[in-house]
Amino acid sequence: MFLSVFDVFKIGVGPSSSHTMGPMTAANRFLDLIASDSWPRPAGAAVTALKASLHGSLAYTGIGHGTGRAVILGLTGEAPDKIDPDRMDAAVAAVEASGTVQPPGHPLYHFQPQTDLVFDKKTPLPGHANGMSFSALDRDGRVLLKTIYYSIGGGFVVTDTELAAMQNNKNAGSSGTRVPYPFASARQMLDMARASGLTIAQMKRANEEAVMTPDELDAGLDRIWDAMNSCIDRGLRYEGILPGGLKVRRRARSIHDKLQEEWRSNRINPLLANDWLSVYAMAVNEENAAGGKVVTAPTNGAAGVMPASIRYYLHFHPDADQEGIRDYLLTAAAIGGIIKHNASISGAEVGCQGEVGSASAMAAAGLAAVMGGSPEQIENAAEIALEHHLGMTCDPVAGLVQVPCIERNALGAVKAVTAASLALKGDGVHFVPLDACIETMRQTGRDMSEKYKETSLGGLAVNVVEC
Ligand code: SF4
Repeated sequence: MFLSVFDVFKIGVGPSSSHTMGPMTAANRFLDLIASDSWPRPAGAAVTALKASLHGSLAYTGIGHGTGRAVILGLTGEAPDKIDPDRMDAAVAAVEASGTVQPPGHPLYHFQPQTDLVFDKKTPLPGHANGMSFSALDRDGRVLLKTIYYSIGGGFVVTDTELAAMQNNKNAGSSGTRVPYPFASARQMLDMARASGLTIAQMKRANEEAVMTPDELDAGLDRIWDAMNSCIDRGLRYEGILPGGLKVRRRARSIHDKLQEEWRSNRINPLLANDWLSVYAMAVNEENAAGGKVVTAPTNGAAGVMPASIRYYLHFHPDADQEGIRDYLLTAAAIGGIIKHNASISGAEVGCQGEVGSASAMAAAGLAAVMGGSPEQIENAAEIALEHHLGMTCDPVAGLVQVPCIERNALGAVKAVTAASLALKGDGVHFVPLDACIETMRQTGRDMSEKYKETSLGGLAVNVVEC
């Protein structure tokens, strides 16, 4: 089992990895497919128009998550990691006004979002809660090509056939890329660490270096941290009301001002670390809610937990350095890969336990690693953090990644630090194995009502009056 650190941490735009980045990527993939020779194009037929339809959770909460905009932008050729958030409104308005898209290297296609982009709440697709289809038509309106994609969490997108193949590979225990430490569970990870004498970060590094050079790996890790760090800084700069209609105020900047004032006046704050963790996490998630650049960690909705805990590490640990940040990211990615492989990191599949719960477990593991924890203590830290998010539902008010998501990241970061600290005070021997906790999350998610899986049909989403 190999999931690269760069599959876990991806630079993109808010507010949602599964509902914004995934659909934009799916649209990009469909454009690539149209332009390729890998489909049976009828002789003489030319694609002149495109259509898209969103299903399941994408249809229910897609408007609040900006899914429609993401599809429109994706069909113009914009990609999540390259797009300039400041140009998005104008690009969408241009498509709506013209009823056409012309992605680079393609002819002009008719695509009128009001009629050609459908939010179909009645027909869920069978493979996953986040389903969508794209169609290419000729000038007579005949469908030449139709492809189903699923956005399976964290910005990952697969076709229906790829999803089936993934399922088969998982059942057969197949790994894909060959790596020196192919751990698929926490138990295997600990056994391999014991046998090799390596840390989790060192094993993960060796796995990554099976597909890239050490320099590429370090440069990529540094780029990820730079993007996270810049996101915190942007989130601390801006004030005002978040988009979407809920009129949620951005609070990170004013809280940050108060903390700086407190710092300057040497006032004693018994909750100092908690307050700084919270403000950093909220800064990221406010930026995400505003559609800014973020890093999936492991998703956009949970993007604040890890950057906040890395800033905490830089502030409060005298030995903190760039190498430590790399080890943190590698360790966190190892844990995220195990969770994704055995359960899910998608709110639409297992609720928020899979998003903020996974982020907190990954952050706890990363912190425990850079604070000198053994592999057993790191696994313990991840388990403590995940265990105390079990059962947490996904019920975003108005389908926006704002309430409860922004504060939830703050709490996820605080729990991560507490979990790492508790684990480091023990010897790694503990009662609930991380694997058992992940399996519990999977089963709890399976049994959870669809109302609590990113559909905004239950929980806070129906009990908070929108004003
Ligand atoms: S409630 Fe959690 S899982 Fe749902 S959108 Fe918010 S952060 Fe994501």
